[in-house]
Amino acid sequence: MKVLPRTPTRLAHHRSADRTSTTIGSGYVRAVGKAVRVAQPGDPVLLSYNFCGSCIACKDKNLSYCEKFGPLNFGGRDTFTSAEGKGVPGSFFGQSSFANYSIVNEHSVVNVKDLVTDRKELQLFAPLGCGIGTGSGTVVNAAKPSSQDCVAVLGQGGVGLSAVMGARICGCRTIVSIDRVESRLQLAKELGATHTVNTEKLPEGKTLADVLREICDGVGPNRTSRPLSY
Ligand SMILES: [Zn+2]
Repeated sequence: MKVLPRTPTRLAHHRSADRTSTTIGSGYVRAVGKAVRVAQPGDPVLLSYNFCGSCIACKDKNLSYCEKFGPLNFGGRDTFTSAEGKGVPGSFFGQSSFANYSIVNEHSVVNVKDLVTDRKELQLFAPLGCGIGTGSGTVVNAAKPSSQDCVAVLGQGGVGLSAVMGARICGCRTIVSIDRVESRLQLAKELGATHTVNTEKLPEGKTLADVLREICDGVGPNRTSRPLSY
């Protein structure tokens, strides 16, 4: 079962050294295998990780804990063929959507034909494949903060900003965004941060821990999110 989407976006979240990596992708299906049911040629789709669908974790709907998650998503098997006929590693995170065309299992495909109206919207939805779910899910589903909690998020990339939005949804009274790029901190404010800390501009003689304690009642945050990229 193979699906070949054309990727309008190449969002390099968790990108590795090879050219065909990336864990987030969106595009239009070019062709499908005979047994594929999730999409048809022309459908707009989002890409996410692969899973086996038959192990205990998968049957229990805990797909990210699939027993074969490692080999299916990080196995590095040859997916593409070069012009010289040599195998080219692909299927990173089940997709390798940094390539112009991805060959993926239908498990990695989410059909959004009833959700998006044009190519621009499809590009905006691409981060749902990993970044938004990771960031917001970490806060909303794992940390489960209340309106009384102080949340600190280190790193304001796609994952971190999604964590900020998750904290906002949870109604947290203090949401501290931490980064070294001012424009990212400004965006974090728009998305729900109550405070921002630029680690390149800490007050003289103070550490990040000192600043966080001052913002969060003298004791510091009781929920912390740190995306891997930070
Ligand atoms: Zn499985």
